[in-house]
Amino acid sequence: MKTTVLLLASLFAPVLYGAEPVEVLYITHLPGRYHDYKAQMEAFKKHVPRFTEVEVTYRAGNHDETVAFLKQPDFARDHDIIIYNLCMAHSYDTDQAYNMIVQTTEKGKPAILLHCAMHTFWATFGKPGSREAENTPRLKTEWRAKHPRLDFPDWSTFSGLDTKRHDKQRELKVLRAKPVHPIVKDFQSEWTISKDELYVNMDFKSTATPVLKAHSVQDKKEHVLAWVNQAGKGKVFGITLGHGMETFSDPDYHRVLANAIEFLTGK
Ligand SMILES: [Zn+2]
Repeated sequence: MKTTVLLLASLFAPVLYGAEPVEVLYITHLPGRYHDYKAQMEAFKKHVPRFTEVEVTYRAGNHDETVAFLKQPDFARDHDIIIYNLCMAHSYDTDQAYNMIVQTTEKGKPAILLHCAMHTFWATFGKPGSREAENTPRLKTEWRAKHPRLDFPDWSTFSGLDTKRHDKQRELKVLRAKPVHPIVKDFQSEWTISKDELYVNMDFKSTATPVLKAHSVQDKKEHVLAWVNQAGKGKVFGITLGHGMETFSDPDYHRVLANAIEFLTGK
């Protein structure tokens, strides 16, 4: 299913006289196993254009259709930025992972990764004690044999965060990281999310700059939950918030996504 929707700025949008709208490619898969991706897409359609001028193309097929689309060589050719709202933790499809990664690292197309997009392609960065980790050496060997000149597609290097588990859903007090990043400069110093999953930072990459963080009441540590990662020629904005509709109906979530779109595209 492909739907192209022209979403014009509302009265609340920033003034961008004469500016071309940002061409966004929003990719999700339906129905989603742990997440209501249809409702999330509808919330994005309704709310995010209040904060920035965008023209959004929605790719929302079933799982197999989405995989086929993501393996097309230039699937983001006609767009300024890609948003991935998907969850493929147990996929071993390294060709798919590679093709998604090079849209940004080689073609320079910025990308926004929402929530479970960070828990995707676990086997490319291993998950201790899991069948994903058992398969990582095999996948690397097969990759070298098949593509001796190409880098192995480690999804956590691309996203900027190695994460394989999360806290139980609960209220989160979200704080801005220091120094304050331009994406959240117009935010209050504290933002309360009524219920979401805090993704545990196993390895926050040195190429990434923290934007938002929260304290875990489970492990008593701070975890970055939004950041900008330099991934080759392009930038990634990752945000691990976005499990349920509590977050997807929060105006501050819409605003942070709109600000990230503007920051990554420079518009
Ligand atoms: Zn989730």
